[in-house]
Amino acid sequence: MSDCLFCKIVRKEIPAKVLFEDDLALAFEDINPKAPTHVLVIPKKHLESLEEAGREDRECLGHLVMVARDLARRRGHRQSGYRTVFNTGPDAGQSVFHIHLHLLGGRQMAWPPG
Ligand code: AMP
Ligand code: ZN
Repeated sequence: MSDCLFCKIVRKEIPAKVLFEDDLALAFEDINPKAPTHVLVIPKKHLESLEEAGREDRECLGHLVMVARDLARRRGHRQSGYRTVFNTGPDAGQSVFHIHLHLLGGRQMAWPPG
C-alpha cells in the first residue's frame, strides 16, 4: 500500500533511525518514545494488523518477535526485562495500520497497561 506511513519508511521515502534490517523486517526507533528503549519492529510486507495475518505470515511474525528479543538483548535488557506489544484495533489504540511490534524497555512497566 503506497500511501502507508510504514511502507514509506520501508522504501526509505521517510527517514527513520533504523536499528535492524533484513529481507523480511525493519526495526526503527519510535518517534515518540514511551520508554528509554522504544523500538518498532515491522514486516516489510504490508499487513494492516494481526487481524489481517494469515497462515502464510506465521514465519514472518515469529521473526519479528525474535528480532525484538535480539534488540532487547543488544540494549542490555536481558536481565532487567522488557515488553513486546502488538496493538490491534480501536480498543488497543492502534494508530498506524501497518502491523508493528513495540519493544519497550529500560524502565519498570505497569501491569495492566492503561
Ligand atoms: P500504535 O499506536 O500501536 O499504532 O503505534 C504507532 C506508533 O508509531 C506510535 O508509538 C508512534 O509514536 C509511532 N510512529 C508514528 N509515526 C512514526 C514515524 N514517522 N517514525 C517512527 N515512529 C512513528
Ligand atoms: Zn504499510
